[in-house]
Amino acid sequence: MIPRLKPYLAQEEFSALFHSHSSSVMLFEDQFAEVFSVKHALTFPYGRSALWAFFKAMQIQGEDIVQPAYTCSVVAHATVLSGNNPVFVDNSLSDYNMDYALLAEAITARTRVVIPTHIFGYPMDVVRVNEIVREAEQCYGHRIYVIQDCAHSFEAESNEASVIKAGDGALFGLGISKQITSIFGGVFTTDDDEIAGRMRDWRDRNFKTADWGRCLDRALYLLAVYPAFNETFYGLVYWLQEKTPLLNRLTKAYHLDEKIHFPPDFQIQMSGVEASVGLAQLSKYSEIKKSRRAIAERYFNELSLPASWILPPKVNGATYSHFAIRVPDNKEVMDYAAQKGVQLGQLIEYSVPHLSAYSAYKGNREFPNSLYCSQHMINLPIHPGLKQSQIEKIISALNAYRVEQ
Ligand SMILES: *Cc1c(COP(=O)(O)O)cnc(C)c1O
Repeated sequence: MIPRLKPYLAQEEFSALFHSHSSSVMLFEDQFAEVFSVKHALTFPYGRSALWAFFKAMQIQGEDIVQPAYTCSVVAHATVLSGNNPVFVDNSLSDYNMDYALLAEAITARTRVVIPTHIFGYPMDVVRVNEIVREAEQCYGHRIYVIQDCAHSFEAESNEASVIKAGDGALFGLGISKQITSIFGGVFTTDDDEIAGRMRDWRDRNFKTADWGRCLDRALYLLAVYPAFNETFYGLVYWLQEKTPLLNRLTKAYHLDEKIHFPPDFQIQMSGVEASVGLAQLSKYSEIKKSRRAIAERYFNELSLPASWILPPKVNGATYSHFAIRVPDNKEVMDYAAQKGVQLGQLIEYSVPHLSAYSAYKGNREFPNSLYCSQHMINLPIHPGLKQSQIEKIISALNAYRVEQ
């Protein structure tokens, strides 16, 4: 079975496990900054820890943080766990990002931070976002920070420029399902010396350093998880995931928890082993980006789907963490594809304000598009390791649907 995602790892990453040293984390930060053309890159154990540390270091507390309803729940978790209030904005159905008119409405005198998110790698129009924010700043007379959530997009471009540099800072997740991985891990980038300095200080005073046990745990995780993505075994892995709770840690159930909480290790610094794997991945980033775009192009050109299925938006500068299609019945399509040997994803399968833990923040407002998307999305495998024959298999499996139904 073709897995819905697969980290793009080769010998370099596995040998990196055995060649990490104490300076790997600093090297990774320098290299990350260089690859994405930013002044500062700071590592964290998870992307969520990076966002949480931003709020803490900047002493942002009790404030409104404007963010998408349709995104990864860890953004809202970091908001609440740092003592702030998430203010959710519904998404547009055309690119799944925050609706610009609703974004403008959501910003009030209480807003301190806005988190534009480039979901599935489809970039928001960051110039437009910044206009909205600058106008609100004038109106309310205080600074509003803009933090780009680039966990899906990495270096997507908007108006020909990287979205990473469009605000005061940017946030990245580097878990095993992201475009590049450091096993776990997260990064915060900024061109602002003051933000970088305050965050680095705060992190180094409040995060424990990773010890050798931590390095070993991370290395073993990678060694255990990688064979699971092998196409030959993936039928078994799929079965274990679907029918048993055994592989929850692998890919599923990331957000099934209805509680607002962080993993217990969220305040331990990135380990050298992870940084070392991250370094190997950084050198492949441009190849990864090119390959995802090329696969998306093939899907756009060769898929022939039922009229009721909605293809992803064709936006210049997209980086396709996911090739997301909206369908009438996603469970049925997923089962159909699975029978043909193709696993589809159903990201994002929840709407954050509709999670019971967030009912207090939802109030009586409605987020109809976020709710709708949470029930109707599928995503096609689009990882750079796909062979041409696998891409063809995916295309013909889906094209057969229209003929057979
Ligand atoms: C993965 C992800 C993050 C960060 O996730 P961590 O697991 O904490 O590294 C943030 N935002 C989005 C949209 C994500 O998908």
